Amino acid sequence: MNYPISKKEILAQTLDKTGANRIIHCSRSWSGLMVLNYHRIGDHRQSLFDWNLWSATPEAFDQQVQYLSKNFDVVTPNDLSDVFKSRRGRHVLITFDDGYRDNYEFAFPILKSYGVSGTFFLATSFLDQPSIPWWDEIAWMVRNSENNSIDLSQWSHEKIPFDKPDCSKAIYQLLKIYKSLNGSQTADFLEAVSQQTKSGRCPDSLAGDLWMTWDMVREMAENGMSFGGHTVNHPVLSSLEEDQQEAEILNSGKRIEKEISKFPVAFSYPVGGDSAFTEMTQKLVQKSGYQYAFSYYGGYSSFKQAEFNPYDLPRVPVEMDTSLSRFRSILTLPQIFA
Ligand SMILES: [Zn+2]
Repeated sequence: MNYPISKKEILAQTLDKTGANRIIHCSRSWSGLMVLNYHRIGDHRQSLFDWNLWSATPEAFDQQVQYLSKNFDVVTPNDLSDVFKSRRGRHVLITFDDGYRDNYEFAFPILKSYGVSGTFFLATSFLDQPSIPWWDEIAWMVRNSENNSIDLSQWSHEKIPFDKPDCSKAIYQLLKIYKSLNGSQTADFLEAVSQQTKSGRCPDSLAGDLWMTWDMVREMAENGMSFGGHTVNHPVLSSLEEDQQEAEILNSGKRIEKEISKFPVAFSYPVGGDSAFTEMTQKLVQKSGYQYAFSYYGGYSSFKQAEFNPYDLPRVPVEMDTSLSRFRSILTLPQIFA
């Protein structure tokens, strides 16, 4: 995919190339907690699944972790109570959502080689009964379709054209509709996309090596990696009734506890935008026994803030088009780039 070069990217490259990032870094322009969020590591180009899930190539991730390990205090969720008490320093938490196997194959060895920890939020049913998640299935149905558009009159006012060959815009539009649905409508929506694309449903056999196994989770935990809850089935929590939300939140933590003998300290909200969880969701996360929960709409926790909401800690996405200049700028001047 070719991304148009943005003004922020130009600024990031200028700051980096002129050495300004180095000077600003040394002047300690911020203090607080920066939480970075990744999903997949690898090469998306041959995949029929959702390309937006890939955050970095192994080479880019290696460069990013090297930079973090040299310049910042990389912490784990267990360190956060001390971090928030200290109100000093620049702390970074490296997080991954969903539990994709490439996290074990590519991210884990890189993190280990630099002696830093990553935190992996697992949607536990993906490990227990490997299946294709809704975002990857929607992408697969669109990319497998011989049609040139999709007509979903019950769900969308307009026909959605397929921007072949990569279909990224069509997939984005369909995912946006999915995220806006009530939890009781999502199964019907997937069925409608399957029929209209004439692709059928994505077979679970394609999920055979998509997710980590619990053996991998235990090996990573034994090597200093942390794990957190991310629900059982990865629904948009705000679309569910209270009892369903509670079961999704609590049972993912219990499932992880069964494997690594420790109920997780942290949780991350699926999708994570400000409409993906409510105040009630935050209370349920707290009631379930988690001490922290992470959202996903950018920003960082500055020690200049009077207080922090431990159940809505912001995270910054790292994406395939995040250049090393941009990455260093996010960490140097989060006030502008995070
Ligand atoms: Zn997720």
